[in-house]
Amino acid sequence: AKRNGRNRYEYYDVRFDEENDEKFTLIQRLRPAVQANEFEVYYQPLIDLASNEVQAVEALLRWPQKDGSMIFPDKFIPLAESSGLIIPLGAWVLNQACEFCAKQHENGHTNLTVAVNLSFAQFKDGTLPAVVEQALQNSRLAPQFLELELTETILADENGTTGEQLEAIKSLGVHFAIDDFGTGYSNLNYLQTFSARKLKIDRIFINTLGIGENDAPLVAAIISIADSLGMKAVAEGIESKPALEKLIKMGCDLGQGYYWSKPLPAPEVERFLSNHPTK
Ligand code: C2E
Ligand code: CA
Ligand code: CA
Ligand code: CA
Repeated sequence: AKRNGRNRYEYYDVRFDEENDEKFTLIQRLRPAVQANEFEVYYQPLIDLASNEVQAVEALLRWPQKDGSMIFPDKFIPLAESSGLIIPLGAWVLNQACEFCAKQHENGHTNLTVAVNLSFAQFKDGTLPAVVEQALQNSRLAPQFLELELTETILADENGTTGEQLEAIKSLGVHFAIDDFGTGYSNLNYLQTFSARKLKIDRIFINTLGIGENDAPLVAAIISIADSLGMKAVAEGIESKPALEKLIKMGCDLGQGYYWSKPLPAPEVERFLSNHPTK
């Protein structure tokens, strides 16, 4: 093919600012990386605060780089969502996570649950129920040990087929958690109509716990919402003993955070599970 000449090139020589440039490069690299399965699933334990047992692990995506560095999901998940790549990537995570959990059951952690995050964009093509069913079949994981974490944006969607797909997934026997509670949608109506097993209190509410005297009115309110709707309250981002003690006093059911463990690669979380009581 003939070049169109220098003039044309100069026409498109728009100056990207550094951030756009980086984003652009990342999008270009995302598709082949998804095709080549260059991603890794890390797992972070969720602890039952009453028994100190590991109740679940949450699957969290990582993109390791050839130079040894790591790209975190906050960078690439939004790009995967806008490009549609979250559909194959999300299916891959589901399969990995179910397989990992089934393996832990074989290792004797027979009640361990695995939690997988879902993006709104994964509901766009209508294939999600089939993808979930397939992941369960491939891994032979019993459906009650899979928990899907949904944000308020997903639950508040009244257009499209999101609700139908959630019903179809629920009828497989899979459970749900409401993620990042308190940061999203303000219409709480969905809380009464949608039955989730867990309500995850966003890290921003947990951050400041244990610092001041009256630092916890919102957290206490959220725990009581969870309680009155029959959901387990989960505190995300617990980093300190004082925060943990306050949460226990307030009757929070489960906790997750650096206090116990950062998200870990599969072999390391397996070690964590073997050194820790599990359900
Ligand atoms: P998230 O679902 O709210 O996950 C919890 C995030 O909090 C994780 O960040 C975790 O590493 C971090 N975290 C946990 N405990 C602590 C703590 O004690 N202190 C602090 N500072 N942070 C803590 P991560 O792994 O970077 O993930 C960020 C977000 O990316 C997730 O937030 C989730 O929204 C999204 N994400 C990750 N993996 C997936 C995935 O497979 N699919 C989709 N759709 N989204 C994902
Ligand atoms: Ca989550
Ligand atoms: Ca969260
Ligand atoms: Ca989040």
